[in-house]
Amino acid sequence: MLKNNGKKTAISVACTGCLCLLLLVVAVQHHRVQVTEEADGEDAAARSVPEDSARLAQDKKGFSTYFTKLTRGRREVEKPARTSAAASDPPPAEDISATDIFIAVKTTKKFHQSRLNLLLETWISRNMQQTYIFTDGEDDELKKKIGIHAINTNCSAAHSRQALSCKMAVEYDKFIESGKKWFCHVDDDNYVNVRTLVKHLSQYPHTQDLYVGKPSLDRPIEATERLGENKMKPVNFWFATGGAGFCVSRGLALKMSPWASGGHFMNTAEKIRLPDDCTIGYIIESVLGVPLTRSSLFHSHLENLQQVSRSEIHKQITLSYGMFENKSNIISLKGAFSVEEDPSRFKSVHCLLYPDTPWCPPQVAF
Ligand code: UDP
Ligand code: MN
Repeated sequence: MLKNNGKKTAISVACTGCLCLLLLVVAVQHHRVQVTEEADGEDAAARSVPEDSARLAQDKKGFSTYFTKLTRGRREVEKPARTSAAASDPPPAEDISATDIFIAVKTTKKFHQSRLNLLLETWISRNMQQTYIFTDGEDDELKKKIGIHAINTNCSAAHSRQALSCKMAVEYDKFIESGKKWFCHVDDDNYVNVRTLVKHLSQYPHTQDLYVGKPSLDRPIEATERLGENKMKPVNFWFATGGAGFCVSRGLALKMSPWASGGHFMNTAEKIRLPDDCTIGYIIESVLGVPLTRSSLFHSHLENLQQVSRSEIHKQITLSYGMFENKSNIISLKGAFSVEEDPSRFKSVHCLLYPDTPWCPPQVAF
């Protein structure tokens, strides 16, 4: 009996042992499969890296990737933390009108016909009193249209850094002389919605330090300041792109005087060897320590203008048009005029904003 019991115990112990062994083998096998699968996954991910970068490298050439990059950059620079100007209507800090703003339009003689006339027919026609044209040649036709607001800077007509800084220097001096509350600069391929500009600037007291615009880069520009013959100092600062337009309060403009008035602006631009709009950013951010107030309502043709929707057009401060890699970059607007009749879309924008303009088609439902 005892012998039988002993045999039974031995058998059950052996069976349990086998079962355990079997379970152990299954578990080990399962683990091995999992590890192999994970390793395969890693391998696949690792393989996809060069494939992706090859595809990206190809895409990089494309227009869309360029704009995606710009848009991403813009999203980055428009983060609310640094955007003190809210898009929704904040209460006005000051009751200003269009006549309190000095709008400087930079142009050159060769663009009087092709660019400036369009602006004179559209937004400038409604804002003659506050708009000043800074050019580099005499033009009797222009004088007839805008009188002493056509300013011949006598700067060179070249697109060089020095020539552009020379024009900005004259813009600055004329603004100081004007006694107006705000200085705004635009290029001759900008449409300015003056009503929105007035509303936007009235959020700020003009006596405070304000520099409003849109940066074209997603990071501060890195420059080198020349201190003396062989002395250089690296400087980083944000600047508002001139091609989108920017504004400076009188309070701040007066503080800029030692670096911007008379011949000083040209000297400052030479010190950092950068164009006119960067020099403005350098004086304000780097020298005076006043940060740029970002606004997404200013637009240059360096961004995808198709992203400005029709229902939002009246809220924008500036618009632009241009070419990029032989493709036209214009706002998407089904308006009073076809793209053939109005390639920049500025006439259509103008009819949208001022439908009572005599040359706008009457009561068109777009
Ligand atoms: N401009 C100028 N002199 C020139 C060429 C251009 O003053 O020889 C002005 C032009 O009228 C415009 C600005 O510089 O207001 C920018 O020129 P553009 O739009 O042709 O170039 P972008 O820098 O926008 O590509
Ligand atoms: Mn341009």
